[in-house]
Amino acid sequence: MFILDRPRVVPTLFFLLLVGVLFIFRPSFVSAETLVVYSARKEHLIKPVLDQYTKETGVQVKLLTDKAPALFVRLKAEGENTPADLLITVDAGNLWHAAKEGMLLPVNSERLKENVPIHLRDPKGQWVGLSIRARTIVYNSKQVKPSDLSTYEALGEANWKNRLCLRTSKKVYNQSLIAMMISQLGKEKTEAVIQSWIANLATPVFSSDTKVLEAIAAGQCDVGIVNTYYFGRLLRKKTDLPLALYWPNQNGRGVHVNISGAGVTKHSKHQKAAIALLEWFSSESAQNLFADSNLEYPVNPKVNPASEVAAWGRFKQDQSNLSKAGELQKEAIRLMDRMGYK
Ligand code: FE
Repeated sequence: MFILDRPRVVPTLFFLLLVGVLFIFRPSFVSAETLVVYSARKEHLIKPVLDQYTKETGVQVKLLTDKAPALFVRLKAEGENTPADLLITVDAGNLWHAAKEGMLLPVNSERLKENVPIHLRDPKGQWVGLSIRARTIVYNSKQVKPSDLSTYEALGEANWKNRLCLRTSKKVYNQSLIAMMISQLGKEKTEAVIQSWIANLATPVFSSDTKVLEAIAAGQCDVGIVNTYYFGRLLRKKTDLPLALYWPNQNGRGVHVNISGAGVTKHSKHQKAAIALLEWFSSESAQNLFADSNLEYPVNPKVNPASEVAAWGRFKQDQSNLSKAGELQKEAIRLMDRMGYK
């Protein structure tokens, strides 16, 4: 018998061995879901964060990077068939648009509510901030004393005539800044502020925050408004530039902040896993990975910014809900257009 059945024993043993091996490595076969992230943030900022998530959880993440408008067109076109589970982009104005276009899923997560302050997330849970960027005043430290400065509005006063540099109003960062100003000061006051800024411009508007910084450092103008990470990046390259940051409106509404953020896509096929990734982004272990690579601030108040960023000092931030940046964006664009802010 034994001799007769021997040819069958080998394949049977081999089969049992294979089953055993599959059983031992079962977790990586069964639990390894693959998530797809569409990101308008540069790959070198996001990839290390996603790699860490894969390392911690075994969940694979595929990353597709493109400009925000291109990703929005793609998501719209793909509709229900989209492979995307998560959308990452910068500026609350952009996230608000994605939500309004029906691309994002309302998420009700206690962990997100706990980790992310209320003004940095959508009231309906469709998007949530992952890092904070502060848009503040920068000045030439050889020409200006901090005591000369006070508020964004005061940059329109007569003593700043021919001393102000601004980035173009076509950039969403300025559209959000002005939308938030409209929500706080009203249309008329904001209009007067823009008019007074335009009257004080030393040069035509610039295409980037970095060019604003370079113009101030070169003495073409003395003050401007920029996102702090551009300041940080430029000073890493040229440490001796006569530039310094100023935190305006500290006795009032605070510094204008914006976010990089994310939302689960409406047609995600892995909603639970996508929410888990979003929650992990807001956790203490992931927040520094998210903020530090771009010299931004963590959204989670329990997490400290990188020491290089912390050195710029603490400030009071505007705590009104960033959904206003989207709601009032069109209004802001029209207003800047009327006032001749190019
Ligand atoms: Fe930027």
